[in-house]
Amino acid sequence: MIMNHLRIWVEAPFDSGEPNISYRFEIHAQNISRCAMGGTISLQPPLWATPGDTMEFETGILEPGAEWEQAFTIRFLYGGRVRLYYWEKEAQMETLGWAVFDVKGAGYYSGDTHAHSSYSDGHSSLEENRASMLDKGHSFLYSTEHNTLDHLNEIQCFSRTREAERFLHAAGWEYTTTCGHALAYFVSAGPYPPEAQGSTPNIDRWQRFVDEMTAAGGWVFLAHPYEAPCYEFGDELLMEIENIAGIEVWNGFNHHALDSPNRRAFSRWDRINARGVFHCLGNAVSDAHTAKKHGNPFIKGYMRDLNIECLREMLKSGRFFGSNGPELYFQMGESQMGDTLYIDEEPKTVKAEILLFDPGGRIEKVVLRKGTKGTIDRRGGENSAKAIAEARPSSAEERRRFETSLELTVSQGEFYRVEAFTEFGAAAFDPSASKQEAGFAFTNPIWIERL
Ligand SMILES: [Zn+2]
Repeated sequence: MIMNHLRIWVEAPFDSGEPNISYRFEIHAQNISRCAMGGTISLQPPLWATPGDTMEFETGILEPGAEWEQAFTIRFLYGGRVRLYYWEKEAQMETLGWAVFDVKGAGYYSGDTHAHSSYSDGHSSLEENRASMLDKGHSFLYSTEHNTLDHLNEIQCFSRTREAERFLHAAGWEYTTTCGHALAYFVSAGPYPPEAQGSTPNIDRWQRFVDEMTAAGGWVFLAHPYEAPCYEFGDELLMEIENIAGIEVWNGFNHHALDSPNRRAFSRWDRINARGVFHCLGNAVSDAHTAKKHGNPFIKGYMRDLNIECLREMLKSGRFFGSNGPELYFQMGESQMGDTLYIDEEPKTVKAEILLFDPGGRIEKVVLRKGTKGTIDRRGGENSAKAIAEARPSSAEERRRFETSLELTVSQGEFYRVEAFTEFGAAAFDPSASKQEAGFAFTNPIWIERL
């Protein structure tokens, strides 16, 4: 077995860089073993950077305790909080580590919109949760305590500090309702009293709650619909609610995306969209109750800047993917994930393009799914969005960065979404764990409508 012989780290010339400027970094290594040795270090720049290929460095033989360093340059193409991964070439799983840097301005930002602190039933402070998010390369966090906004004051104090320039911390709350938990973002009103929901599940009362939150400028997501019997919305209710923003198809509190409670939520999500009364988005959240769990899984999307208005825009548009590592981008014609693609004739042939990036270089496959509006009603009918195409990388380079496109003949009422699978979730990588979780990412759908 290969042991961790080298301590590796990266030094940056800046606290906060800008896109389209070449920066000179240094990679360092120290021999922490008791004998003279050296190795090959692999370094993976982020997706939106040049060069983007995996770099390799030979340290040569180092005496015990000796240090080595080498300079390299990277130019980032967009803003965002980026990770530079490094590992000993022959021992990726034993030695994987990363450095995190901030690049200002428009670009791809990641974060978590459902998590808890000690202000409700979480076990860590807001500050500890923020630090964990920053270490993981995330830029925003919604701390959503149960039925309280007591944490708002502390978050407002943080937002007036210099630190807030590189991290967006927002206060939200998770509502307890008799039908299950829900999150409403961007609501200016205070927490909705759970008593007002009554003591028995009631669809009309629940719909009123959604409508009131929406009228107040809010955006309601259903939390973990299948987490536990006491939180379950029930299939019937899920098929009747209207005008929610979306559901948490991947709630990371207890389960991976591919575990059955989340898989059921994915399937129900597709059925809601196949019912077709409104466009329902899918969210990925950690629902973390510890600092360590924060940001796994996360969502990532394009923001013009790191502020609450841009986060609102991203969350409302559905232009984001959920993931624990792989980055996934999906486009049909000029429309991105979350968009509606308007067609002028039926059927219409359009080009679908998928880009998948796995910093660990272990992509397994991408799957395109298709559903059709109006094919089911609340009593049943044809199920969900079926897999219609699958593609696998065929080279080591493609296992790191996989671009695939296909011509699709589409019609009004259809919707398409993508899922991606990798051997392990690089962003969820835990050096202390004996087994790493599988990597997974999904996009929001692109809906097809007739002009
Ligand atoms: Zn929660």
